[in-house]
Amino acid sequence: MPKTKILWLSCIACNGNTHSFFNYPHLEKFLEDFEFIYHPVINSEYSLEEVVSKDLPCELLLIEGSISQDLKRANKSLVEIIQNYSKRVKKIVTVGTCASFGGIFNESDYEDVSGLHFKNKECVERFKDIKEKSISISGCPIHPEVLVNTLYGIKKDLTLKLDEYLRPKEYFAYTVHNGCVRNEYFEYKIDNHKFGSLEGCMFYDHGCQAPFTHGSCNKILWNEVNSKTRSGLPCMGCTEPDFPRGNFYETKKNMGIPESLPVGVNKRSYLTLAGITKAFTIERLEKKLLDD
Ligand code: SF4
Repeated sequence: MPKTKILWLSCIACNGNTHSFFNYPHLEKFLEDFEFIYHPVINSEYSLEEVVSKDLPCELLLIEGSISQDLKRANKSLVEIIQNYSKRVKKIVTVGTCASFGGIFNESDYEDVSGLHFKNKECVERFKDIKEKSISISGCPIHPEVLVNTLYGIKKDLTLKLDEYLRPKEYFAYTVHNGCVRNEYFEYKIDNHKFGSLEGCMFYDHGCQAPFTHGSCNKILWNEVNSKTRSGLPCMGCTEPDFPRGNFYETKKNMGIPESLPVGVNKRSYLTLAGITKAFTIERLEKKLLDD
C-alpha cells in the first residue's frame, strides 16, 4: 500500500503534541505507512516554503496549535494555506486542544485566536466550509495512539463516528474516569490523602476532572503502561473545549459538594449516593494496598 502523505502545519503551539506523537510506541511502523511532506521537527523531504510555493500534494492536513488570522508561515497567511490545502486533502485533523478549541492560547494577547472550528465551546465560522472534512483529536497533549489509530482509520476509509466537537466517539465517548483503577475508592467516597499514593480517589479533594472529561486515557494506556490517575495524579480535563478550567490539584466545593459533578449526575442524585456510601466503612479500602 503506498504511503499516505501528510502535511503537518504548526500554528501557535508549544510543540507538545509533536513530542507526544514521538512517544507512539510503534513509530517506525507508522513511518512505513505514512510520510510527512513537511513536519516542523522531523526531517522531511521539503521545506514548508517549497511545499507552499509549489502546492505539493498530500492526502492529510494535520494542524497543531491555535489559529489566528494574522499568523504567517512560509511568507503566506496561515489561513490561506489551510484554505488552499483543505480543498485538496482527504481529511483535516486538528492535533491537540489548541488546534481543536484554542486551548491555553485563548487566554493570550493574540487577537481572534481559536481552534479550527471552535473557540472553547463556540463554533467559529472562519472555516465552516471545510467542517465536513475535519476531525478533532483533542488533548494537551494528544494521546499518541488516539491520533495514530485515527490516521489509520482514515487511511483505510473507515467511517469514524464523531461527537458534537468532531472528536471520534470511539475515543471520546467515554469519560477518563472509565477504567481508572481507583473507581472503587470513588464509589465509596474514599479520598486520596497524598499525591502519588496507590490508594484513594482524587475527585473529592485533589481536583480530578476525569468524571466530567471525555477521553481514553484509562482505556488505552499511555506508552502502553500507565495513566495519570492510575499513577496518582489528577486528570486536568485537557481534552475538553473549555480547557484550562483551572482548579488543578484542588477540588472546588460549595458546602462540601464538588462544584463540578460527573457527567449526567445532578446535585440531588450525588447527595443521595454520597449519603449512602458514606454510611459504609470498608476496612479493606481504608488500608494501604502494599505495605511500606
Ligand atoms: S482518581 Fe479520578 S479517574 Fe480515578 S476514580 Fe477517582 S475521579 Fe475517577
